Amino acid sequence: MTYEELSAFVADMGEKPFRAGQLFAWLHARPVSSFDQMTDLSAALRASLAERAKLVSPVPVQVLESKTDGTKKYLFALEDGNVIESVLMKYSYGWSVCVSSQVGCRMGCRFCASTLEGRVRDLAASEMLGQIYGISAHAGVRVSHVVVMGAGEPLDNYDNLLRFIRLLCDPRGQNLSGRAVTVSTCGLVPQIRRLAEEGLQITLALSLHASSQEKREKLMPIAKRYALGDVMAACRDYEKATGRRITFEYSLVRGVNDTDADAKALAALVRGMRCHINLIPVNPVKERNYRAPDRRAVLAFQNKLEKSGINVTIRREMGTDIGGACGQLRKSYLEGSRQE
Ligand code: SAH
Repeated sequence: MTYEELSAFVADMGEKPFRAGQLFAWLHARPVSSFDQMTDLSAALRASLAERAKLVSPVPVQVLESKTDGTKKYLFALEDGNVIESVLMKYSYGWSVCVSSQVGCRMGCRFCASTLEGRVRDLAASEMLGQIYGISAHAGVRVSHVVVMGAGEPLDNYDNLLRFIRLLCDPRGQNLSGRAVTVSTCGLVPQIRRLAEEGLQITLALSLHASSQEKREKLMPIAKRYALGDVMAACRDYEKATGRRITFEYSLVRGVNDTDADAKALAALVRGMRCHINLIPVNPVKERNYRAPDRRAVLAFQNKLEKSGINVTIRREMGTDIGGACGQLRKSYLEGSRQE
């Protein structure tokens, strides 16, 4: 519930308005997992809350910790038995959590493990927040940055995503700055346009992966629905409306989108935009035959873009010793439980 919804709920119970503030703090500022832990509420009120409302938190069923960089991968069980994964990463600027937005995904990107079996369901805002609160409690850290780059297509779950972001940025809760939140999309044009009008300062990361319509269609079925030209126009308008620089994600696949000509076409595509390109050497998924270029080819690709004056980084690989790649923890967990 938003603060306003919670206020109405509390009023409906016949409670004083300040109770909404107390409850909101227990739910979001220093989250607890049961009404009984809300010690400044009377026992009668706690009992009455437990009768009328439900407080559920995703339960960590598996936590893997990298020995090399401290990255932690969490597998959470939801109330209905579905499992999702999230990642905690340490950066110089603080702790960042990568959250999932759906159980599975229906976008079908060819190289992605999370979409192999389609979408099971959307996550509720509480389930997205629950990943952050659960990790924060388990690891004992304050999460300062959030990237919606886990399994799922966030803009395919638009209303829950917006509710999640607004709750996360509420000054009475975690009080994250919009600038500390990044939403990654495969390029759903109408939703990108809608997001631009929400008055948020969040960063939009666009999964580009190819600089021609033809190549993009081969990697991402969604490209058939939204033409590259329309996606780029929506990104330019997003930048204009929000003043926020777009991040383009480009997964490098050997022999598919990694040549000099690809780099040149990419530079031409983003010319004139204030943007950032993040190169991701593709993480191999065993069902697919995609491989990352060797290190030298990745650096050459980066170099070529830099020479055109583009801001480029190569995604730092984190947690590779714990099966770090996208969606693979959940996948191996599901495969394991099927064999049992
Ligand atoms: N649905 C959102 C979030 C998905 S995951 C989106 O499409 O942006 C975040 C990023 O990881 C996306 O850019 C996605 O294309 C990329 N990705 C997924 N699987 C990958 C893999 N095996 N190797 C490299 N990048 C991958």
